This record gives sequence, C-alpha cells and structure tokens, in this order.
Amino acid sequence: MLKAKTALVTGSTSGIGLGIAKCLAQQGANIMLNGFGDSEAALAEVRTLGTRVSYHGADMSKPAEIEAMVRAAEAEFGAVDILVNNAGIQHVAAVEDFPTEKWDAILAINLSSAFHTTRLALPGMKQRGWGRIINLASVHGLVASAQKSAYVAAKHGLVGFTKSVALETATTPVTVNAICPGWVLTPLVEKQVQARAQADGVDFEEAKRRLLGDKQPSMQFTTAEQLGELAVFLCSRAADNIRGVAFNVDGGWAAQ
Ligand code: NAD
Repeated sequence: MLKAKTALVTGSTSGIGLGIAKCLAQQGANIMLNGFGDSEAALAEVRTLGTRVSYHGADMSKPAEIEAMVRAAEAEFGAVDILVNNAGIQHVAAVEDFPTEKWDAILAINLSSAFHTTRLALPGMKQRGWGRIINLASVHGLVASAQKSAYVAAKHGLVGFTKSVALETATTPVTVNAICPGWVLTPLVEKQVQARAQADGVDFEEAKRRLLGDKQPSMQFTTAEQLGELAVFLCSRAADNIRGVAFNVDGGWAAQ
C-alpha cells in the first residue's frame, strides 16, 4: 500500500516509534529512523522487512539538526511523504519542584520539534500532491495527571497544533492527525513502573497492575503494533478526509 512512499519517524530507535516504523515498512514504505540509543539494532530490525531504511541522529531539541535530518531524508529518498512526530520524553515532579531545564527540554522535544519538522516537510508534500502528518500526542493531550505539568502542557499543545495545521491544509491532499495512547509498556513507561514499584514496595508485575488500575480501565497496555496499525490506516485512502482528529487508544482512560 505504501510502496514508493518514504516515512520519517522521529524517536524511532525504541518503543512506539520503532513499532510504527516497522508497520509502515511492512506496507512497503522506505523509512528514515531517528533517535538516541541503539540505532544499529533498530536499523537491523527494519531492514529485515525488505524496504530501504536509513538513520539520522538529529537531536529533536535542536532546530538546525532537525532541518539537516529532513533535508537528508529528502536527499536520500527523494521525499518525506509520511511524517510521524513521535520523539518524546517524560519527567515526573510537582510543578514547584520541576527542574526548569526539564521543562524546556520537554517543550522542545515533545512539542516544538513537531513544528520544525512540519514546517520543513509540508511544502514538499503539497508540491508532490500527497502527505500524511501523524503526531504522537497522548491521552495526556486530552486530560491531565498530577506531577506531569510539562508533559501535559506539551501534549495538549501538540493536539492543538494538529488541529491548526489540519485546518491550514484542509483543501490539500495532506492530512494531519494525532494519536493519543494511554499506557504503552515502552522504556519511557518502564521507568514509571519501576518508580511505582519502589514507592509502593511491590514487585514490577504488581506495580504494572497498580499503574493500569489507576487510569486504564481495560487493565491492558496498548501495544506499539496497535498504534502502528492505526498509523497505517491513517495513511490509507479511507483516511483521505480525516483531518485534525485526536484518536485515543487508551483502554477507556479518557472515557471516565
Ligand atoms: P521511548 O522512550 O521508548 O522512545 C522515545 C524515543 O524518542 C527514543 O527513540 C528516544 O531515543 C527518542 N528521543 C528522546 N529524546 C530525543 C531527542 N532529543 N532527539 C531525538 N530523539 C529523542 O518512549 P515511547 O513510550 O515509545 O514514546 C514515544 C512517544 O509516544 C512519545 O512522544 C511519548 O510521549 C508518546 N506516548 C507514550 C506513551 C506510553 O505509554 N509509552 C503514552 C502516550 C504517549
């Protein structure tokens, strides 16, 4: 379905980004990976799916590096047809204790990076007559939790940004939407499970149950593959007129 298309997926060396990159590659898309961590392992995983894959190590808090990455993807593959803004970090602390450098980093990586990739990739999508922009927000783009002020502010901002750019592109063949997961068991959440295990004096399995029990009525983690399949759907013809929507995949979290 996506043969001859190229997807740039930010923060795709692990977790949700890697899962989405693999689902898009399974549909035939060429992939530009990005992120810190083990890029060789991520490249090897995607390569087995038979499409062309490359990697750029841009730091998503640095606009000049983001520009270099978008240009590198265009130079190597001829286009960025699908842009998945997925890179993100978390820090958990009360607002009066929140380190200011963490606030700045979360806003830069979880929100401003999507502005930079979008402004850089959108002209090419319009020119070529097709494009998909998919922003990995969060259920925290729709509702809040205590101790996560920077993350909640950034993700609400990303949902707002999604709607605004969807309106600007509404008469073009480029669609812009957001995916809002609840808990997904990735390295980002494993840290929070470990913190919960330590705080409650319980093992990892019990801490997982408690974390889910607080917020996610299905008592199941969403998987990266489920999010990847939703991204594939958003790239399909059936989704040509889906614009500015925030899809929660949250086991009922936001329904409460
Ligand atoms: P993860 O920690 O597994 O992956 C994050 C990715 O972003 C990694 O590849 C990491 O190297 C990369 N990254 C971090 N800082 C970067 C930077 N400065 N420049 C470039 N890359 C950087 O986390 P994940 O859970 O897969 O999260 C992916 C996205 O999904 C994030 O935006 C996160 O907020 C969102 N999300 C996650 C969950 C969840 O439960 N895991 C829920 C809702 C939303």
